[in-house]
Amino acid sequence: MLDVPRSLYSLAGSDLEQILDSCGFPRVHAARLLKYVYREGICSPWDMRDLPATLRSRLEDAITADELTVCSEVQSSDGFTRKYLLGLADGCRVETVLMHFRERATACVSSQVGCAMGCVFCATAQMGLVRQLTAGEIVQQVVHANHELTEQGQPQLRNVVLMGMGEPLHNYDAVMKAISILCEPAGLALAPRHITLSTVGVIPGIIRLADERQLVNLAVSLHAATQEERAKLVPVARAWPLDELIAACRHYADKMERRIFFEWALIDGQNDSAEQATTLGQLLHGLPSHVNLIPLNPIANYDGTPTSRDSAKRFQAILAKHDIPSTIRQRRGIDIAAGCGQLAVKNEARKWLAR
Ligand code: SF4
Repeated sequence: MLDVPRSLYSLAGSDLEQILDSCGFPRVHAARLLKYVYREGICSPWDMRDLPATLRSRLEDAITADELTVCSEVQSSDGFTRKYLLGLADGCRVETVLMHFRERATACVSSQVGCAMGCVFCATAQMGLVRQLTAGEIVQQVVHANHELTEQGQPQLRNVVLMGMGEPLHNYDAVMKAISILCEPAGLALAPRHITLSTVGVIPGIIRLADERQLVNLAVSLHAATQEERAKLVPVARAWPLDELIAACRHYADKMERRIFFEWALIDGQNDSAEQATTLGQLLHGLPSHVNLIPLNPIANYDGTPTSRDSAKRFQAILAKHDIPSTIRQRRGIDIAAGCGQLAVKNEARKWLAR
C-alpha cells in the first residue's frame, strides 16, 4: 500500500494496476477505474459501485482527486472559441482553450505555469516560468474541455494541442506521461495522431521524441529562416541555433517517417517578406513539412502587428514554388486573446496567475 495518496489524474493504467497489486486486488479493476473516471466522470471510489467495497475503501486512502476550478471563462464574439482560466490546487492558474472547427473541436492545453522561453511576441513569456505542471494537471485540462463538450451534447473530444502556456519539451516527462494517460484505451482513448505537441525548438526534446518513437504530431515554431532573425524573436535560438534545430528536425523526420508542422507567426514588416519566404523554402528543402502561417495575435507590450491577408497569400505562393505545402490559419478568438501557436495571456490576466 502506498504511504502517500497519489493524484488520480496522474495515474496511467499501469500505475493503477500497481496500486491494485499492492492492495491485493486483481489488476483487471484498473480498466474499470479508468472507465469510471474518464467516461463517466466519477472520481470518488465510493461511487464506483461495481468495485468491491473493500477495494473502494482502500482506494480512498491511495488516491486523491483534486479538481481544477474554473476561475473565469470567456467566449469569442464568433462563438467558436472559449477560453477558461483554471485554478490549480496551489492557487496558480492556467489557460485552456476549446476551439470549434467545422466538424471537430480541439482543446489547446497548457504544459507549464508561465514559460522560460522568452519569445518576444508572447504574453506568457512576460510571466517567466512559475512552475511545471504535473501530468495530472495537464490531463485535467483535457478532462475539463471534454466535459464542456459533452455538456453541450457534442461528441467526445478527439483533438488536443499542447500549444497553451509553456514549452511542452521543457516539461518532457510530465507531458509524455499525460499523453499516455489520455491515450489509455479504457479512458479517453485519444489517438496519438490526434495530439500535437508544439515546441519553440528545444533540440534535446525533439531528439528524444524521435528516439522514443513518440507518435504524437510535432509542430516547431520557427518564425524566421535565418539564425540572426530568429534569435531576435525567439531568444532560445541562441542556445539551440537554427542549423542545429533543422538537423534535429531532419533526424526526427527520418526516424519517424512523418512530416513536421512548422509554425510561422506572420508579423507585418518583420518576417513576411518575399526574401524570407524564399529563404524558408530553401531551408525546408527535402524535409517533409507543412507550414502553418498564422497572422500574429497582437499583445500588450509588443508593437508587432499582423501581416495583411494579401501579404500572407504572397508568402504562401512563394513557399508553393518551393514545393512546401502551407496553410494560412484562421486566427481564433482574437477578442479573447486566445490565439493559435501560442496562447497569449492578456496583461490583466497576469495578476491572476502565479499566486
Ligand atoms: S510562444 Fe510558447 S515557447 Fe514561446 S514564450 Fe510563449 S509559451 Fe513559451
